[in-house]
Amino acid sequence: MSTDAYDVLVVGAGFAGSVMAERLASQAGLRVLVIDRRPHVAGNAFDELDEHGVLVHRYGPHIFHTNAERIVGYLSRFTDWTPYEHRVRAVVDGRELPMPINRTTLNELYGLDLRTEEQVRAFLESKAEPRDRIETSEDSVVARFGWELYETFFRGYTTKQWGVDPRELGAQVCARIPVRHDEDDRYFGDRFQQMPAQGYTAMFRAMLDHPGIDVALGVEYADVRDTVEAGHVVWTGPIDELYGFRFGRLPYRSLRFETRSRPTPDDGLAQSVAVLNHPDAATPWTRVTEYRHLTGQHRHPWTTQHVEFPCAEGDPYYPVPRPENRELYRRYEELSEQEGGVTFVGRLARYQYLNMDQVVGQALATAGRLLAARPPRPRTAARA
Ligand code: FAD
Ligand code: UDP
Repeated sequence: MSTDAYDVLVVGAGFAGSVMAERLASQAGLRVLVIDRRPHVAGNAFDELDEHGVLVHRYGPHIFHTNAERIVGYLSRFTDWTPYEHRVRAVVDGRELPMPINRTTLNELYGLDLRTEEQVRAFLESKAEPRDRIETSEDSVVARFGWELYETFFRGYTTKQWGVDPRELGAQVCARIPVRHDEDDRYFGDRFQQMPAQGYTAMFRAMLDHPGIDVALGVEYADVRDTVEAGHVVWTGPIDELYGFRFGRLPYRSLRFETRSRPTPDDGLAQSVAVLNHPDAATPWTRVTEYRHLTGQHRHPWTTQHVEFPCAEGDPYYPVPRPENRELYRRYEELSEQEGGVTFVGRLARYQYLNMDQVVGQALATAGRLLAARPPRPRTAARA
């Protein structure tokens, strides 16, 4: 880290912070310092080779998918891509059924022979319980699939994942899971489904490799707040943390990962698809990921799996979409507007359950607005 003053201090080297830094440096010639308390860039998308040479995502499986060509175009400046379509199966009474629920799921679960989309539609309509207003995650599932499928696939998983009943959670959480009337067993329906060919971390290194950007890792904001001179701060950490939790803590859901590695002398894999979900309430974990399915390491003498145990304590991974949390967030947002001087971007700073492509889109838009409205003045120009 240089001792010079910077135009902008970016807190967090994940998608939000790295895209902001890249834009501000490359588009406006600003001098930017990016810090992260973790010893690496890439935020929660960080990937690395484990001790067996298996490429793993330290903070859980990250699959890139989007419908936004603009975002693919932007990221393609920093990475090549490898096609990958994500598939997930839910383990129900020892059977592995396609998730999202599709025609195959229904036929296998109920011993049916539904053959057309119309038949699937009619079957689901016979099960669903229409609701006037879709406010909670329970509403979202029961209105589309009915109680039985809700109990089998959603209630246990959601309660484990979020620590509250689905009727306490905003509809958008379970609405992420689509209804399928055909046999499409891909987890996502987006037009673009590809993974960064050399991994996420390599993509971030390329993004931050700009003469105007300095990166300091293993550095807390509190360590530099009083020593680094910066004309503007971009904050991508939890918004409540910046303000000393003065209105109370915003809840974030976290995860604990148990790692399982085993030799695969025949290049084989341990499970049928990249992710197996365990939706029943009795199993304490939610899903098991086997990374080689999704990273393109098809042949390798070892394989590594992550078992996910949701928990309340730990790194903040998921903002919890509930009305009272939104209210608390609004109080912090109002405070930030009164105080000024800081731009908030990303999943934690805006307290929004966003996918990677959405965070990139938000950062691109925010950088554009910041530069258009009141461009932080380049120090070099100011000194000249
Ligand atoms: P983050 O990646 O959290 O980055 C914020 C950074 O700020 C962190 O590195 C943190 O250390 C740093 N920081 C915070 N406070 C401070 C401080 N005070 N001082 C210094 N540094 C600080 N999205 C998808 O599109 N597809 C997926 O398949 C997918 N899977 C996911 C799986 C899991 C388990 C999780 C948790 C998320 C997943 N996501 C996925 C979402 C994706 O991780 C986020 O959209 C994205 O990483 C958010 O980027 P961000 O920069 O906003 O936040
Ligand atoms: N969900 C569920 N059962 C499943 C898969 C998902 O109940 O088999 C619910 C659960 O509440 C989960 C949400 O749908 O948190 C969104 O799932 P997604 O896979 O998008 O979650 P993420 O990958 O963000 O953890």
